[in-house]
Amino acid sequence: MSRTKLPIDCVVALTYNCNAKCTMCDIWKIKNSPELTLEDLSKLPDSLRDVNISGGEAFLRRDLPDIVATIRKACPHARLVISSNGFLPPVIDKAMDKILAVAPDIGVAISIDGMGKMHDEMRGTPGGFDRCMETIKILKKKGMTNLRLAFTITEYNVEHFPLVYDLACELGIQFTHSFAQSSEFYFGGKQNINNPPRELLVKGYSHIIKKELASWNLKRWLRAFFANGMFKFITSKNPVLDNAPGRDFFFLDPTGDIYPSVVHNFILGNIRKVGNFKEFWLSPEAEERRKKVDALRVPVWMICTARTALYNHPVAVGFWILKNKFFGFDLK
Ligand code: SF4
Repeated sequence: MSRTKLPIDCVVALTYNCNAKCTMCDIWKIKNSPELTLEDLSKLPDSLRDVNISGGEAFLRRDLPDIVATIRKACPHARLVISSNGFLPPVIDKAMDKILAVAPDIGVAISIDGMGKMHDEMRGTPGGFDRCMETIKILKKKGMTNLRLAFTITEYNVEHFPLVYDLACELGIQFTHSFAQSSEFYFGGKQNINNPPRELLVKGYSHIIKKELASWNLKRWLRAFFANGMFKFITSKNPVLDNAPGRDFFFLDPTGDIYPSVVHNFILGNIRKVGNFKEFWLSPEAEERRKKVDALRVPVWMICTARTALYNHPVAVGFWILKNKFFGFDLK
């Protein structure tokens, strides 16, 4: 019997056009990227609880307010977050006025991969850090509270990991992070050999996890759990909890191809060929392709796949939080 339910989390890459030149990603080298249309996005299922609106650079889409309105209508129960490099403060300022009118609770995640020059180097964009800070100032001025800094760990910037976390705390906004990895079709196909020194990872993660656990905020405790899982994943390649790419989660690329995740290089289907997403997702054909996900057993631990794992394992997560909050946390 199929164990497939409808998906609850996804990332949609609206376009691969991008105005940055990041060291860990070759998407910016793609010219004249295909783009998801409003019709494609209107087919997203209403089972989704989290939709990350991403790219490329999402704010290069002039129709972003219409896109958000379309996703909001298709997925009325989903938390929406736009991921951005933050390099276009005036464009973001203007677009967000329209976006907040249709989705007042939407979040924005701005990538920050280091303090000052480190960020500029990582993102191949002189003056980029200052532009990001300007963008955050603009968004805070609009009264937005659902804001976060998103850090990508590489060997080069790992020492700045705790510094950017502290910056997020100073700014009074959330902090998320990921690990630069290889993908045959995402990141422009860039193969990232990424082995940061273990002692720097221990230093950064200990600082962050201890601070998150010291708070009295459930969301921050869950982030501590996620961060601990990321440390374990980076250092051992084993996810701390089972997660289900291609079942709970999917990645939608600008051509409409639906992937189990950004590290599974085969498609489940194409949204342009799908009449009804739910029927497609539960179809024997999709289930057949999912067998490949099971057979490959590619280890995954990303915020988008881990989030559903956290929902699915409340006892294990709760136990970890209680133990590490009240009996001390030590990263081994
Ligand atoms: S990481 Fe993001 S901002 Fe950087 S080149 Fe890739 S898509 Fe653009």
